[in-house]
Amino acid sequence: MLNSLTISELTGKLARREASAREAVQACLDQIGRVDDRVKAFLSHDAADALAQADAADREIAAGVTRAAKPLLGVPVALKDVLCVRGQPCQCGSKILGDFRSPYDATVVEKLKAAGAIVFGRLNMDEFAMGSSTENSAFFTTRNPWDPDRVPGGSSGGSAAAVAADECLAALGSDTGGSIRQPAALCGCVGLKPTYGRVSRYGLVAFASSLDQIGPFTKTVRDAATVLEVISGHDRRDSTSVPREVPAYAHNLEGGIRGLKLGLPKEYAIGGLDPEVKAAVDAAVRQLESLGAELVEISLPHTDYAAAAYYIIAPAEASANLARFDGVRYGRRVNGADPVEMYSNTRGEGFGPEVKRRIILGTYVLSSGYYDAYYLRAQKVRTLIRRDFLNAFERVDAIVTPTTPTPAFRIGERSDDPLQMYLSDIFTISCNLAGICGISLPCGFSREPKLPIGLQLLGKPFGEETILRLAHAYEQTTSWHREKPPLA
Ligand code: GLN
Repeated sequence: MLNSLTISELTGKLARREASAREAVQACLDQIGRVDDRVKAFLSHDAADALAQADAADREIAAGVTRAAKPLLGVPVALKDVLCVRGQPCQCGSKILGDFRSPYDATVVEKLKAAGAIVFGRLNMDEFAMGSSTENSAFFTTRNPWDPDRVPGGSSGGSAAAVAADECLAALGSDTGGSIRQPAALCGCVGLKPTYGRVSRYGLVAFASSLDQIGPFTKTVRDAATVLEVISGHDRRDSTSVPREVPAYAHNLEGGIRGLKLGLPKEYAIGGLDPEVKAAVDAAVRQLESLGAELVEISLPHTDYAAAAYYIIAPAEASANLARFDGVRYGRRVNGADPVEMYSNTRGEGFGPEVKRRIILGTYVLSSGYYDAYYLRAQKVRTLIRRDFLNAFERVDAIVTPTTPTPAFRIGERSDDPLQMYLSDIFTISCNLAGICGISLPCGFSREPKLPIGLQLLGKPFGEETILRLAHAYEQTTSWHREKPPLA
């Protein structure tokens, strides 16, 4: 079953002519046909276009193009519905974009295509990436392939579920406060949020521009390194992307972790931590120690304020970014007697409740009289949080934490309680506020029901090589990542 392979396994087979890209794409399409009415990861996919891309890849392979030249040649990669692909729909899990189709490729899509990937499918997500469960999708809720009564996490829940259910070999998502790492943890795959500025956001529909980053979902750490290497780099169309050389992430995975210092933040030992999550993460920490890492207790004293600061800054930026969806520029319009009524009808019908809640929160914290009390303060707290991390990274090479406080929760369990939902991200949010990098990888399962548990490694700004190396060393000595969910 080619769809259940890793990227490195598939590219090996393609290079040895043991399989074709067409067969790989067909295997993914067949798997979608078999399981996606239950998983519901895809909003749509264009099978004819994917097969045409596969045939083009097969011609290149026949003409002698190698993996070294095009590291993703013939690899089916699916995308969160927030990334623009020329000619394809892009709805951001929302009704407001209507039948909008992207007029251009996002930079990451250009890079995937240039590396030979077969870019296909629109993956479900919380509307405009606001949420932790995909229950805020305007279309339907994606299911966790380990238990269809549970959420896959969010906001990139479709991306995580599609990879976990072997409907594609890898996927891209976006992470503003945890939306790659949290669903990766809940679905049992690898998810990486790069350092702010590592990957161009051109062609990513903005949620909170100072926090958003695009990153990969994969089945192994090696595959995450391969995809990261492809999508990273400076882009003059995104002024926040950093002109800094892209390391050979996939080649630099080996070499071991002896002597690397791993920070354990004492503030992350919280009361609400699920005992099975704690046990799995503790065991993973001991495993990393036995592989040669040195454990160091550290303090991130402003941790308690991260969620509060995030839920001021992210909605503030979102309220500005979403102002462009006004019935004039894009997608859907609901007419009214005058322009103001048209705006209000369009936005009233087009946006769902969580998006409206964030816009109201965001405009409130930015309004004169409240700006200093909320927004400015939150920005100051953000600086303190970044400083906490930079101080800690003077003593350690990486920081280890659980990715989420609990395994996947039940559909509906938190949807009426936004505060409870917001707490799904307490371990992931600080990383975005600080602009550093983070990865989540499988580190065990709960029992009854059997649900994946994620380990988070946080790295220095542009320290992706170190967290990838640690994650790879751990993965090499464990077998969690090889287990397949019942729905695959
Ligand atoms: N769950 C968080 C939120 O709702 C993070 C979302 C994200 O990273 N896009 O904002």
